[in-house]
Amino acid sequence: MAEPRLSCCITFDFDAMSSWIGSLKSRNPSMISRGQFGAVALPRILALLDRYSIRTSFAVPGHTAYAYPRLVADLAARGHELVHHGWVHENPAAFDEAGERRVLEEGLTALERVAGVRPRGYRSPAWDLSERTVDLLLEYGFEYDSSCMGHDFLPYYLRSGDRWSVDTAYHFGTTTELVELPVAWSLDDFPPSEFVLGMNTGLMAPSAIEENWRGDFDYAYRHCPGGAYILTLHPQTTGRGNRLLLLERLLDHFAAHDGVVFEPMGDFFTRWKAAHPRAAWMAANEDLTGVHAIEP
Ligand SMILES: [Zn+2]
Repeated sequence: MAEPRLSCCITFDFDAMSSWIGSLKSRNPSMISRGQFGAVALPRILALLDRYSIRTSFAVPGHTAYAYPRLVADLAARGHELVHHGWVHENPAAFDEAGERRVLEEGLTALERVAGVRPRGYRSPAWDLSERTVDLLLEYGFEYDSSCMGHDFLPYYLRSGDRWSVDTAYHFGTTTELVELPVAWSLDDFPPSEFVLGMNTGLMAPSAIEENWRGDFDYAYRHCPGGAYILTLHPQTTGRGNRLLLLERLLDHFAAHDGVVFEPMGDFFTRWKAAHPRAAWMAANEDLTGVHAIEP
């Protein structure tokens, strides 16, 4: 089979209540109920994906797996990929090393217990990383991360040991085997859609979101062959009325292009890494690895 021109990963973060509890530290039952709606919306999302025969990736915190074990086990049974997404949507940089290990292990234990899955991929809650996260992901056997933004539509290899300060030149660390499948806030449904008083305006018209996401797809299709267009959606956000219609229109647009495949991030990762081993990628991307960086 010819290489796909563009991979479309229509990924979902099934955060349910965890993002309001972990990231927003809420004590407000109304706010928590916004997360509960994710369990209502998930079957709608799955029905839409089934209509387009799409298998994709779901990033699921351990907290969500324990709250909705049947829904999470069903995702795996349907052939979707489960991705590690923390324990309760916490920021890994808020912990010391022992604490960061603990939330990694609790997320792994929950996905194993509920769905019998050992995830290959990691997506940090709210895309926060600590300076030690890359090393820990390698140690725990993860093969790819999907939390960084060093490219738009092409994967790259993550480094360990970067150092920076306002007084020195940027120090590039060692390029590791961990592959980044890059994300972008501009391809996430939370910032344009979710209203959070005092924090996020949200409530953007689906037609305006459609223009942004469609334009990025058109650019990727034309200019980044062999890459991946990764949308980060949330059942509780995109599963509401008009936003679900927006997703349906976009899927029609994407599917109308020759050479587009819909697949989980893990499937794309396997193909991309086989075609771009680390040494070959480093040789072709010297400026991105820092080998030519100089001291002031
Ligand atoms: Zn999340």
